[in-house]
Amino acid sequence: MEEVRCKYCRKKLGEIEGKAEIVCPRCKRKNKYDTEALEAQGN
Ligand SMILES: [Zn+2]
Repeated sequence: MEEVRCKYCRKKLGEIEGKAEIVCPRCKRKNKYDTEALEAQGN
């Protein structure tokens, strides 16, 4: 599981594993995440 934050306003959106799309409740923008891809990049 990885903690993810909104790319636009930095609000913490929760913890995800794998791929997820989360609409930020504060700024209403869509954030896409892929934790598997992040791990592959060494983050
Ligand atoms: Zn936001």
